[in-house]
Amino acid sequence: MQFIANDIKEKVEKTIIPIINALIDGIETDEEIANKTGIKLNIVRKILYKLYDLKIANYKRSKDPETQWFTYSWKFEEAELINQINEECEKELNDLNEQLESEENNMFFVCPLGHVRYNFDEASDEEFLCVCGEELEFQDNSEIIKQLKKNIKLIKSDLNSFNKSIKK
Ligand SMILES: [Zn+2]
Repeated sequence: MQFIANDIKEKVEKTIIPIINALIDGIETDEEIANKTGIKLNIVRKILYKLYDLKIANYKRSKDPETQWFTYSWKFEEAELINQINEECEKELNDLNEQLESEENNMFFVCPLGHVRYNFDEASDEEFLCVCGEELEFQDNSEIIKQLKKNIKLIKSDLNSFNKSIKK
């Protein structure tokens, strides 16, 4: 897993970030971006269309009146990327808050062999027995609650500093 993550990180650092930076610098065509970054033209194109699919890059097509060829002028959609990052974080925060609420408002019962985890209603439906026949045990979930609160705090502060860094 670590290897895959590093591989992706390296790809992002070597291709996607230089291309976005070129767009931010006002370089508009795929060929100019390829020249400026030293990234192969077909890869530049692939990434530009990927960014377009993700809505964080857009292009305008214009026809050269002499050659009749189309030129594509690319633009980085910074506001859209910022929106997407904010939406992702809000979604993540909502999920975590829902989980936290559920952990705080329920009692949980688990199989000592790790097969199931039920709230009180589910556990009583099963008469406090696991499918394997073991008796379910009450689970102290205070560590889970602590971890959830920690994650929520972390995402909130990350999102805060991200939004602050943009406004500068
Ligand atoms: Zn079991």
